[in-house]
Amino acid sequence: SDSHFPVPLCPGQFDYSLHYPQLFPSSSNNGCVKKIQFADIGCGFGGLLVSLSTLFPETLMIGMEIRDKVTEYVKERISALRTTNPGQYQNISVVRTNSMKYIPNYFEKGQLTKMFFLFPDPHFKEKNHRRRVISPHLLDEYAYTLAVGGIIYTITDVEELGEWMESCLDEHPMFEAVSEEEVKADPVVNLLTSATEEGQKVARNGGKTFRAIYRRISPSSS
Ligand code: SAM
Repeated sequence: SDSHFPVPLCPGQFDYSLHYPQLFPSSSNNGCVKKIQFADIGCGFGGLLVSLSTLFPETLMIGMEIRDKVTEYVKERISALRTTNPGQYQNISVVRTNSMKYIPNYFEKGQLTKMFFLFPDPHFKEKNHRRRVISPHLLDEYAYTLAVGGIIYTITDVEELGEWMESCLDEHPMFEAVSEEEVKADPVVNLLTSATEEGQKVARNGGKTFRAIYRRISPSSS
């Protein structure tokens, strides 16, 4: 249960020096300008973070994962990469948490520029839809956490879930669909399937995927 992992009381209490020791050698992030900008929600084994790390070496990123063993695996994976590639992979980390409850404890209003929800658990039964990581209520929280212009990436191999995520985003006043042109030009989009463990599995099995990529807009621009 949640009692097994510590949660910061507010974003200012999140200790950057524990997660990015080379970039924040001593104290916590109090007074530091640089903050986490990308969050991979339900990051699984961390493949996306590892790929994004070298693509955006100046950006701080975090994976959020609820399973203890999986989180430990990602920690060790990052630690090994840091050891074998000195100076690299310093900008990625992982935290064990329940993202459905604690996002506001980690990020301030408008802090994030990208959020990823890649191959989330489908929760098929109607009574379990409230457990889905994309929902009208949780989108309010994500809109709060994302900067205006920030992008939310979702992908799944479950058609019904894909339709659900797209319709939640479509109906939300703080999000608009990113145009096909922009999607094509965005170097991150291919990584949604090629860099994630789940995406690789779907590709191996020749499965279809369903993407919904949306931008956080300001209320007045809609
Ligand atoms: N995104 C990864 C990928 O594409 O390879 C992993 C996808 S996996 C199917 C979904 C992940 O979300 C699992 O690792 C699961 O433990 C995690 N998860 C589910 N609910 C969560 C929650 N409330 N908070 C954080 N992680 C969660």
